[in-house]
Amino acid sequence: MRWLRMILDLLFPARCAGCSAAGVAWCALCASSADGLFEVRRTALRGGVRAFAVTAYAGPARRLVLAYKERGRRELAAVFGLALAEAVPKVLARTADQARAGPAARCWLVPAPSRWTAVRSRGGNHVEAAARRAAGELRRRGVRAEVAPVLRLRGRVRDSVGLSGAGRAANLHGRVHLRGTPPPQGEPTLLVDDVITTGATAAACATTLHHAGVHTTAVLALTATL
Ligand SMILES: [Zn+2]
Repeated sequence: MRWLRMILDLLFPARCAGCSAAGVAWCALCASSADGLFEVRRTALRGGVRAFAVTAYAGPARRLVLAYKERGRRELAAVFGLALAEAVPKVLARTADQARAGPAARCWLVPAPSRWTAVRSRGGNHVEAAARRAAGELRRRGVRAEVAPVLRLRGRVRDSVGLSGAGRAANLHGRVHLRGTPPPQGEPTLLVDDVITTGATAAACATTLHHAGVHTTAVLALTATL
């Protein structure tokens, strides 16, 4: 189907996912407006794992996430991955796990799971694709990074859009399960997601990892709602 892709590229040249400027998938202006790592505080995460987002879920960054996630612009995985790769060392520097493990320690990126129906309709887990790009970029920069896609959603999980914090927690309770080998204990492990809303998904993921003996160093998302 490469010919089809080529024809589509000719008919619809790349436009910035943030501002629709022609010629690039994500322009420098939107990239510079979406760079401001901040700590995310949520009741669902209270007393537990720390969470960080590269930028607020608003403006160009919100449009970027929607274009990537809902409109199938798979090429944006590179943009998403690069933003995460920039943020990973900053987040690790702010956590005790990195200090304990030492600067040369390997770090693990665990993608947050998507509902199976969403994975199928999107042609794969979009967060995992971004995490793989991020790990590749980190390795190019000399940071030892691996992706461990070990979290799955089990059973009937509703689309969380429109649910309250308590509703999301109930929707996810006991539904995040582990498949495969988790990251080794003692190595910094970041849970990666696209948007933090109530923090319920991140909290459920961290609980599942905790039961597998893995301490979640922090949650790192591209965006978080304000
Ligand atoms: Zn733009």
